[in-house]
Amino acid sequence: DTARAFSVERSASGWKAGAPVPYAFLCAAFDRCAQTTKRLEITTIMTDTLRAILETTPADLLPTLYLSLNALGPAFAGIELGLGDALLLKAVAETCGRQEKQLKAELDAEGDLGSLAMAARATQRLMFTPAKLSVRRVFCAFIEIAQLGGKDCQQKKRDKVKALLVAAVDNEAMYLVRSLQGKLRVGLAEQTVLTALAHALALSPPAATGCAPPSLGKLGAEGLHEVLARAETVLKDVYSQLPSYDVIVAEALVHPLAELSTRLHLTAGVPVRPMLAKPTKGIGEVLERFGSGAFTCEYKYDGERAQLHRLPDGTYKIFSRNSEDMTGKYPDVLQRLPRALLDSTSSFIIDCEAVAYDVATAKLLPFQTLSTRAKKNVSTEQVKVQVKIFAFDCLLLNGAPLIKQPLSHRRAALRSAFREVPGEFAFASASDSDNAEEIADFLNDAVAASCEGLMVKTLDVDATYEPSKRSLNWLKVKKDYLEGMGDSLDLVPIGAYHGRGKRTGVYGAYLLACYDEEREEFQSICKIGTGFSEELLAQLAAFFREEGRTLAKPRPYYRFPAKPDLVPDVWLETCTVWEVLAADLSISPQHCAAVGEVDPSRGIALRFPRYIRTRDDKKPEQATSATQVAQMYRDQWGNAKKGKAAVADD
Ligand code: ATP
Repeated sequence: DTARAFSVERSASGWKAGAPVPYAFLCAAFDRCAQTTKRLEITTIMTDTLRAILETTPADLLPTLYLSLNALGPAFAGIELGLGDALLLKAVAETCGRQEKQLKAELDAEGDLGSLAMAARATQRLMFTPAKLSVRRVFCAFIEIAQLGGKDCQQKKRDKVKALLVAAVDNEAMYLVRSLQGKLRVGLAEQTVLTALAHALALSPPAATGCAPPSLGKLGAEGLHEVLARAETVLKDVYSQLPSYDVIVAEALVHPLAELSTRLHLTAGVPVRPMLAKPTKGIGEVLERFGSGAFTCEYKYDGERAQLHRLPDGTYKIFSRNSEDMTGKYPDVLQRLPRALLDSTSSFIIDCEAVAYDVATAKLLPFQTLSTRAKKNVSTEQVKVQVKIFAFDCLLLNGAPLIKQPLSHRRAALRSAFREVPGEFAFASASDSDNAEEIADFLNDAVAASCEGLMVKTLDVDATYEPSKRSLNWLKVKKDYLEGMGDSLDLVPIGAYHGRGKRTGVYGAYLLACYDEEREEFQSICKIGTGFSEELLAQLAAFFREEGRTLAKPRPYYRFPAKPDLVPDVWLETCTVWEVLAADLSISPQHCAAVGEVDPSRGIALRFPRYIRTRDDKKPEQATSATQVAQMYRDQWGNAKKGKAAVADD
């Protein structure tokens, strides 16, 4: 069916062999993705789309991928459109002959500027037929918009947007606007695009690679499944080490897929997706999981993840947990780093935590202090919050990738290449004991030293560095487990309630949601009003009331309680992530988190939630996922060995 629908689209979009891929062709694929929630179907649609491009116009593969991913380049390149909703609204109004005020009212009621743009274009009579949009023209225009700077740049950006909109027909206007807003919302998760690319390269190898397409008749269903699985493993492995489609696509168009793992690997200057840890409920669980092999416990520092790179040319880079370039944020760290380097060290990638540090008392300061540091274009003289680096892993040293080596080897490499410098650079405090009491003491020491708890890591067996994976080989034991739950959650405010009494004039409580990656929706998990100072509530109210952050109605991708007293007074745009602690999780007749995962029709709710801090390093889509919520719920009851779960009352 997909193949049939797909060839219809191809001829309908007027695409001739070798010619630029029509934007209409990609938009038709987006439409079909939007009509299903099944991950497999979306993968097939995208595989077919990418195959058609590989077979006909391979040069357009890269822009197609970026448009599908809603990105303009790799995350670390930091290319951003720099367009606000107000500018887009104005551009749509001007192009479609609509009153801006009227359009804004409709937007408040409807919620999707993309659909409004499509509807407005459909009723417009045109004097002449505009030239058809192509994938490459749209992508190039996006890049040009991103590059515009200086005087009148907003006006120039708006003109470029208008030029695109004028040429847009049918659903093109909708997808253009949504892409410009950074919210395609057709269910295209990053992993889906990556899988589709792997499958497409396996089934339709580019001519320049010299590989023949696999013979489906000979392979049979099982053989085909194997070919696709192998392609996926190769590509995902390569991407986790070198997350740059620019480099990967350039290679994949001329070299066989199977060769990519030997051709492409970790490179200083390109950030690796960080390895993540699984939460635990305490030391007992750690010993249960790791008891039979060697492991190490490290302090879990309360700062910001920082991946430090030294390139072969001697320059340095620092990347965030999200692979964003933070080099401009930490000039002081880079200035001092050479003091911690031994002479024999040339290129490296080390995984570290940057922690705020009080020089006078030689004490670590909490994350809240670190978050007051400016984020961009900092000059060394301006730095008020000193930072100390705690290094805990070494992923590449002197050109050699180490991630396939066990942690014991990587840790030795780290220590062989760096030296500790008081107040500036240290190795993460570690204890390799497997004695429960000694670990408990070490945890107490960690907490006393202002750390969040411990990170526990396998040393020799199953101890490679797994980029971007939340691995069972890294466990976190947070001090919070003593207070109830094993871990905090990172949640997104999607609604707010007017405050009363002392909180009149600000929002007194918020509706929080987790993110369901499969369904691409934000699902309510609790109402929260605890943990905020009055000053913070005032700041938050001002933040949300700023242009475009409150909504007249919920987004179509919000799932929330029907109970009237839980329906927020004001809906919010997803734009911030809050770390939250709670007493426990319970099945809820009202809230929608992970609905269907633990209970067929009810979701999961947090009981007695309290705000801890704002997570500037996470995007709304990186909030705690519905699957994680379901897992936390199961773990909670599994560990507590209680047969029956409590049911929340709100
Ligand atoms: P996650 O990253 O698991 O989604 P999160 O961002 O809330 O959740 P935490 O639960 O705080 O992260 O735990 C992992 C983070 O702890 C790492 O990303 C890193 O920034 C920090 N960290 C501090 N000390 C260490 C250490 N010794 N080893 C690894 N990570 C550490």
